[in-house]
Amino acid sequence: MPQRTDLFELGRLGLTSGEGRRLDLFVHVDPFDYGGSTYAVVPELVPVRLDVSRTTGSGWALRLRFSATLEGPCMRCLEPASPAFEVDAYEVHQPGGGEELSSPYMDEELDLEAWARDALALVLPAQLTCRADCAGLCPQCGANLNHEPDHAHETQPSARWAKLSELKFD
Ligand SMILES: [Zn+2]
Ligand SMILES: [Zn+2]
Repeated sequence: MPQRTDLFELGRLGLTSGEGRRLDLFVHVDPFDYGGSTYAVVPELVPVRLDVSRTTGSGWALRLRFSATLEGPCMRCLEPASPAFEVDAYEVHQPGGGEELSSPYMDEELDLEAWARDALALVLPAQLTCRADCAGLCPQCGANLNHEPDHAHETQPSARWAKLSELKFD
């Protein structure tokens, strides 16, 4: 089982200004609640690549990359869905650089878990679906239209037609 890193102490890398390091770590990402359903993030320990650079003035430039899959019901057809997402995120943390250059994930340590979760949340679409072109359910009877592409109902005769059909033509 790979070791899980939630917080990472950048200082222990011993980098001096201009130096960088690439790290392959594993992070746990909490499930997402979405439209009343829960979506687990898999794998349980997501492999992430963290690029760390020490900037001048004791700052940090960070890049985080990973891919992860969400597992839960498709929001259109309700069948199991496991859409995959790619994350490529950057953070800059420059002490004394003001609000703009202050990362919310940097304190004594880098909050890798919180950053990974926020970065994944940013790339999630409004709807989690089994596939991009999921046809969803028939609004009339609930049939899964992915399995029945030709599914259709007899169109209801309009009220006007109903009236006309009552007329008798002798
Ligand atoms: Zn679907
Ligand atoms: Zn139907």
